[in-house]
Amino acid sequence: MGGEIDSQVAFRYMKELSFERRSGSPEEKKAASLIAGYLRKMGIKPRAERFGVDVFSFKDAVFEVAAPYKKKYKVWPVGYSKATPKGGILAPLVYIDNPNPATFSDVQGKIVMMEGGFTSKSYKALVENKAKGFIRISAPDRLVYGKLSHTFPKKFGQIPGVTIGYEDSLEIISKGATHGKLISEIGTRKGVSQNVVAEIRGRRLPDEVIIVCGHYDSVVWSPGATDNAAGSALALELASYFSKFPPARTLRFIWFGCEEVGLVGSFSYVEKHKKEMKKVKMVLNLDVGGSLIGRITAVVTGNEKLKNYIEVLGKETGAIGSVVGDIYSSDSIPFAEYGIPSLNLYRVGGGTSYIHTKGDSLIHCGPSAFEAIGKVALEFLKRTANAVEFPFEGGLPTDIQKKLKEYITERSGRSYEYKGDEK
Ligand SMILES: [Zn+2]
Repeated sequence: MGGEIDSQVAFRYMKELSFERRSGSPEEKKAASLIAGYLRKMGIKPRAERFGVDVFSFKDAVFEVAAPYKKKYKVWPVGYSKATPKGGILAPLVYIDNPNPATFSDVQGKIVMMEGGFTSKSYKALVENKAKGFIRISAPDRLVYGKLSHTFPKKFGQIPGVTIGYEDSLEIISKGATHGKLISEIGTRKGVSQNVVAEIRGRRLPDEVIIVCGHYDSVVWSPGATDNAAGSALALELASYFSKFPPARTLRFIWFGCEEVGLVGSFSYVEKHKKEMKKVKMVLNLDVGGSLIGRITAVVTGNEKLKNYIEVLGKETGAIGSVVGDIYSSDSIPFAEYGIPSLNLYRVGGGTSYIHTKGDSLIHCGPSAFEAIGKVALEFLKRTANAVEFPFEGGLPTDIQKKLKEYITERSGRSYEYKGDEK
């Protein structure tokens, strides 16, 4: 079987998809249309599977230190947080090192400033202890957009929250601010998003399915070049290849929407198709890539056999930097709950340190970034999709199941029930 994937073509897709594609936005929909258009040109018939999603939009926010000095700071409403009343909320300000349930015991009536994100436990504790609001400190040098998991407000309640630049937070803390006024304008509405699905039916074993996926939405402000126009582009090039060389098993390509607001597209896909999950043998998830400077990491959510196989493949191709056995915070998670193993391939380094900021742009990227990852992804799919007998059993090791449970309950705020075979 000849041919390789064309890194120039992959990069062209990446270029055309690198614009802000916020989850549930018209721009996200435009990206879905572009992807569907590329597939039609390959002679593949895509379908859009729509799902509902809560979409937030925001206007202004400001934090005004009231004592012991007076100064206004520009801040940004955190996704899925609550708007303040028009006049804002005036309250004591407290800085907390470790945002966890124990340290939130004395936050009643206060605005809490902290670094890092929430787990469901810490957010619940913040709300239950009646904090008036929170201020999240962004990373030094770059503004990282902040959002709650979309499940948190419904489960635990909603309070106002904003993101502040690191440098401003440093000034506020070093000058010993004790009181401030927070004004935040944000709203949430019901919206619609879509997954783009395209199938290349297997010639010999059409009921055995391998899913190749990547999300195509981006976060607020970000052109999402490396995260994840890159993975979307590589999946397109792989679809193009296999449309010319259909394998024994079915390849189902899925471009997921709304990954960035809590894997909403992939969770809704798995829920809608739960009866078919028995047919899914494996997931190849492509999330993050395209950076000229970088190296490939393979995260294997599966057993030792699969991990060893990827290590061998890495040596054969000379293309993988490291192989780790773990879960990967991306669209392979909902499949893992059904015991479906996954290979998560990504290229990290250089430009990927700008992920989730406006700096995640094409200036860090180029066609050569697709060569090694394209080679590994293609080789992996050729072998597994054409194997006489599928080489890997379903089911996940108990240590991976443990991490998965923690991720789904703590980070996603969802209920968890492992539906794979016990191992
Ligand atoms: Zn991503």
